[in-house]
Amino acid sequence: MRIGILGGGQLGKMLVLAGVPLGLNFQIYDPDDSCCARNLAPTIHGDFQDQTLLQQFAESVDVITYENENIPGDSIRFLQQFKRVVPGIKAIEITQDRLLEKECLQALHIPTTAFVAINNQQDVSQAAALLGYPFLIKTRRHGYDGKGQLIIHGDSDLTTVPDTLLNRPCIAEKWVDYRREFSVISVSAPSSQVIFYDLCENVHQKGILHTTHNKPNDQALLAVVPYIKNLIQAFSYQGVMAVEFFEDLACNYIVNEIAPRVHNSGHWTIEGAYTSQFQNHLRAILDWPLGNTASRSLVRMQNLIGTLQNTEDLLKHNDSYIHLYGKAEKSGRKLGHITTII
Ligand code: AMP
Repeated sequence: MRIGILGGGQLGKMLVLAGVPLGLNFQIYDPDDSCCARNLAPTIHGDFQDQTLLQQFAESVDVITYENENIPGDSIRFLQQFKRVVPGIKAIEITQDRLLEKECLQALHIPTTAFVAINNQQDVSQAAALLGYPFLIKTRRHGYDGKGQLIIHGDSDLTTVPDTLLNRPCIAEKWVDYRREFSVISVSAPSSQVIFYDLCENVHQKGILHTTHNKPNDQALLAVVPYIKNLIQAFSYQGVMAVEFFEDLACNYIVNEIAPRVHNSGHWTIEGAYTSQFQNHLRAILDWPLGNTASRSLVRMQNLIGTLQNTEDLLKHNDSYIHLYGKAEKSGRKLGHITTII
């Protein structure tokens, strides 16, 4: 069985590492010829819109999945002519656009922060009147790790929104004063009931996930499970899905983002759960029996961002597991993570 993965970043790499013990083979497709999964599996380097290479990719695999939701919907539709792509087109098209994502949440009566579409300067002023200060402007597409985002604190910021944002379709979001951020990772497959990992609490720094720790028996999980089941049904979803939440000061649970894929806040599951999110994603897309999602221990995952300590120093933490992605150092870039049993 050969799995095709669109995207060969660290998520693709960890999917391959999780699938090898199950006897699975892989084919990666990534535009970047230095992508981190390239040494683990045969890799096609091509644009996500190159139909010749996409067809070659599809013909070399049994089923296709993705580790990145920013793949053009038309490319997914093209690939579907040849092979099954899971999770499907609906999840990817909605979640790659923040406006469609928020509208979908609203239509399903799932709480999300107040929002308004931004296409020009006039919309920015209207957003201030509708949402109040502070509010955030985010690009509808291709924003991640806090990129493509700006906080508008007051009237004086309204006219200084850079053209780099105003020239692209954006969304304005009401600022949420939150007690904490958490995410919930679900696994769904046609022949199984939906299963969930323990909720994990996330701390971000400058919009980038910094640390995550699992919280067994956290009551919030029970409260948000119906929302996630609702999304799974609406998308006819198969695979791992991560949903990020804010818990506001009144203890309401508000969806921030949906990731139709394995997620950084689930890296702790590699050592902290009986079956990792990566292996369960592969089992789910093949409709194989799913693995136990229970936590094995309390763990804390910390991302290694921007620069790396020397590897030998990292290895001296003997209660920890080190994962280095083989990427060049760069400010704000996720270079690895370290999971510590606590
Ligand atoms: P995002 O890329 O939308 O996940 O945003 C990255 C991080 O910025 C989030 O995890 C929050 O820490 C913060 N953030 C994003 N949107 C909001 C919001 N509406 N209110 C408060 N903080 C936010």
